[in-house]
Amino acid sequence: MKRPFVDAEKLRQIAAEYPTPFHLYDEAGIRANARRLKKAFAWNPNFKEYFAVKATPNPAILKILQEEGCGVDCSTLTELMLAEAVGFKGDEIMFSANMTPLEDFLLAYDLGAIINLDDLTDLDYFQHLPRIPKKICLRYNPGGSFSISNEIMDVPGEAKYGLTRPQLTEAVQKLLDLGVQQFGLHAFLTSNAITDDYYPVLAKMLFETAVELQKETKARFTFINLSGGIGVPYRPDDQAVDIMAVGAAVKKAFTEVLVPAGLGQAAVVTELGRYMLAPYGHLVATAIRKKEIYKDYIGLDACAANLLRPAMYGAYHHITVVGKEDQPLTRQYDITGGLCENNDKFAIDRRLPPIEIGDLIVIHDTGAHGFSMGYNYNGKLRSAEVLLKEDGSTELIRRAETPQDYFATLDLPLRSRT
Ligand SMILES: *Cc1c(COP(=O)(O)O)cnc(C)c1O
Repeated sequence: MKRPFVDAEKLRQIAAEYPTPFHLYDEAGIRANARRLKKAFAWNPNFKEYFAVKATPNPAILKILQEEGCGVDCSTLTELMLAEAVGFKGDEIMFSANMTPLEDFLLAYDLGAIINLDDLTDLDYFQHLPRIPKKICLRYNPGGSFSISNEIMDVPGEAKYGLTRPQLTEAVQKLLDLGVQQFGLHAFLTSNAITDDYYPVLAKMLFETAVELQKETKARFTFINLSGGIGVPYRPDDQAVDIMAVGAAVKKAFTEVLVPAGLGQAAVVTELGRYMLAPYGHLVATAIRKKEIYKDYIGLDACAANLLRPAMYGAYHHITVVGKEDQPLTRQYDITGGLCENNDKFAIDRRLPPIEIGDLIVIHDTGAHGFSMGYNYNGKLRSAEVLLKEDGSTELIRRAETPQDYFATLDLPLRSRT
């Protein structure tokens, strides 16, 4: 059974201090998980996780991950600015280009980030640089469909990212001519993979491709970037990924493919987002309305503007009614927010215990791609973020938006509401 990472009494205390809705993060869980990942790849001396900032762009969270030895993966100007402000620099920052404007690229270069090129045309930007970076990563898109044991996991051929196989060779040759000395190879072929096989299959493919490229071009490959994509058990019957088994299977591919090719010194790096944070965040909300028409509805003070995944992907997020964890699931509800948009539902036909107005509701696994995908549709405001620290105390790590924030980009005379 899925339970919140805080008990009902503690949650009520926290909700008495911070008005709902808010995202709550579990520092102890984040740290323990980051340490497990590090242990799983400890066989690779230069292993590093570059946390995908877009998953949870909060400085307090980034600081915790930095203390656990992580770097950051950024894709935009503002993500780079955030990383810099938190104190990441040089090759602690991976910059994943993707239809990138020159301005973003130049800041990445300025910070000394490792630039992960997404296209041959990205090479045009090099003419604007005072010096050529020593180390460059290349993003590979193998096209077609990506299968594990005959099961189609995703369709890279439909994805906008990366270079084709012939383009990889061309890019490496051009970069060698420009004076680049060290190369990395990256691919991101599926999201939220909860099979232990994803990283090992991907790693083997990238290891083999790096060996081929080295043979073709004599380029020196010093790291392989497995990117993100490891999933988490959103549903109560999902099996969590066994990260120790994943690390061991990647090691096996490394030993079989890279070591014999003379690439045994290469670093393995990752850019996990979801795996690092999703289970260690809850969206805490209050049931504020109840409605019985053709179906029974519970309305929360949170809405899709605070957590978009259910509306956008039909994603499952487990729900706990605080204090009723052990009660039988005798009712069936749609749990909704207040947007004028019928996809604003956190759950549809969900079996739950009877819910009363005022009940605290925990929506699970919102620590990654939760707050960060928020938006302001209908003039809804983004919530606060609260950190539950290891010693049991809490810290407001982002205040909730106010109407003033919403109107900040307009020059509008507003009547004072005080
Ligand atoms: C989104 C993203 C990630 C993280 O993905 P998760 O599914 O959260 O692990 C890593 N790398 C890149 C380049 C991304 O765009």
